[in-house]
Amino acid sequence: MNTPPIALVTGANRGIGFEVVRQLALRNVKVYLTSRRAQSGEDAANRLKSRGLDVSFIPLDVTDHNSVKEAFRSFKLKEECLDILINNAGVMQDHGSVVDLDPDLLRRTLETNAFGPLEVIRQFLPVMPRGGKIINLSSGLGSLNDMQSYAPAYSLSKTLVNGLTRQFAAALIGRGIMVNSVCPGWVRTDMGGSAAPRPVQLGAETVVWLALDAPMDVTGKFLRDKKEISW
Ligand code: NAP
Repeated sequence: MNTPPIALVTGANRGIGFEVVRQLALRNVKVYLTSRRAQSGEDAANRLKSRGLDVSFIPLDVTDHNSVKEAFRSFKLKEECLDILINNAGVMQDHGSVVDLDPDLLRRTLETNAFGPLEVIRQFLPVMPRGGKIINLSSGLGSLNDMQSYAPAYSLSKTLVNGLTRQFAAALIGRGIMVNSVCPGWVRTDMGGSAAPRPVQLGAETVVWLALDAPMDVTGKFLRDKKEISW
């Protein structure tokens, strides 16, 4: 009997992360739902477990080095390897244009959106086998080609995420690990707001496709709706 693939998703107590966990678990993936808030993460995992899905909760704050280490320790008590790592946790706290950008806001945003994925990848990479997938949630707002003055700290953090995707994809191609960035589109979540045109199911779709269905030569790409978009 084949063992199910194992996935870990950051910032998965709500929004796109939660939906990614749900869709993966429905496809028989064993999923570790992580959240920086223990009660919210436990509740989210229990909602899915009560529907018969194989979902477990691990606390993980991507901005806290010790929390990332502790999450890895908890994971390793249960599993030998991680097949799918999804860096989903993110914040957007911008108000105003780059002209008024507070460097502290940029630092805080980078801490979660860019250094967070870097820490998590560094910690979990040693247990990722050939055929592993790393998927970084990015945004079209991070595309240098299309960049405007909207949400500068957030946009710049996603540009850095895209750079990390390219760097890791090149570094890991020989190990057979795919690394890609996804823009989920403008999605109705707490971050996207109620005016966003996309339901959360659609926001999760390309992430799940990369995790389970995309050809193995798709690596180092920036994708929306399963198609390449401009960096
Ligand atoms: P969301 O509804 O605001 O959810 C964000 C998630 O990230 C929450 O679970 C939040 O946890 C978690 N998080 C924040 N800081 C964290 C930290 N330090 N450690 C661990 N988790 C943390 O956002 P979303 O719309 O689902 O967005 C998910 C991803 O998609 C983000 O990377 C976002 O940039 C990207 N994205 C979203 C859209 C959109 O339109 N929604 C568009 C493009 C890209 P708490 O509950 O504890 O706050």
